[in-house]
Amino acid sequence: MTVTTTEHRVTTELSGRPLAAEIRRRTGERAAVLGAAGARPRLVVVTATDDGSTLWYVRSIAKAAAAVGIACDIADLGPEASRTRVRDRLRALNQDPGVHGIILQTPLPDGMSPAELAVEIDPAKDVDGANPASLGRCAAGLPGFAPATAEAVVRLLDHHGVDLAGRDITMVGRSVVVGTPVALLLLERHATVTVCHSRTADLAGHTRAADIVIVAAGVPRLVGADHVGAGAVVIDVGTNATDDGLVGDVDAGAVDGVAGALTPVPGGVGPVTTALLLAHTVQAADRAAG
Ligand code: NAD
Repeated sequence: MTVTTTEHRVTTELSGRPLAAEIRRRTGERAAVLGAAGARPRLVVVTATDDGSTLWYVRSIAKAAAAVGIACDIADLGPEASRTRVRDRLRALNQDPGVHGIILQTPLPDGMSPAELAVEIDPAKDVDGANPASLGRCAAGLPGFAPATAEAVVRLLDHHGVDLAGRDITMVGRSVVVGTPVALLLLERHATVTVCHSRTADLAGHTRAADIVIVAAGVPRLVGADHVGAGAVVIDVGTNATDDGLVGDVDAGAVDGVAGALTPVPGGVGPVTTALLLAHTVQAADRAAG
């Protein structure tokens, strides 16, 4: 993957778009079969915010769903929604046999814990692996839905032929939606995983020593040339809206020529994440159809 000479090293771009297209193609085929049998897959995204970029993101999921034959409703409860209202809506969706996938979109109103509410989502419909029970299943290597972004990271590495077993991987970030599940999935794949976070004493030391560096910190351009060993594979999960537009957590210009390979932002992990949300919904509909 890395083209190296003594004077010059090239960083390969690890695009997520071809993999996302392939996942969407297969998902569409299966959705068509289910639709023809009168069991069209249906996804519901529950929102309780007026944040413009979140609502834009949710509409982009709905559009992507429609394009592969999945019905997608946005249950917009508004930024003033109470905890009880969100909980009751999730419970009603669990009971609705016509709904196969449920996403509880963050952010939620102040004081509302996403994990506490996600407990309410039936694991069989938990297509973004938000219920802590889904994370537990991930840790135990049991079937269930992993958080889509975490699965996207592993699928992207597989797609580009990056071996995981026995490799030293540093994960930057330990959130329950990205960093922790990525680490669990990689342990399942026999990698040796180091997890760094905001209180890690020597971040650059840990990342420089790794064969593969995955960054999900939400800090624009946190990882620069000093953080990356020569030829390392770097996966940038970060998506940060800045005055320069959307940027990742990796300073792509700085690591160019140092990293062996790097995912672009946008066009890396993001499209695979969206495609997997749709794939999970079809899997859930498949299981519900028996
Ligand atoms: P989060 O804020 O919940 O967690 C961030 C993690 O990074 C924390 O564990 C924190 O300890 C760590 N961190 C913060 N600053 C650090 C520093 N200076 N050094 C080391 N570690 C540090 O964020 P999240 O929800 O995990 O998201 C992380 C990033 O990934 C964000 O940019 C988010 O937008 C992006 N994201 C992308 C996708 C996608 O599909 N592409 C999906 C989810 C999140």
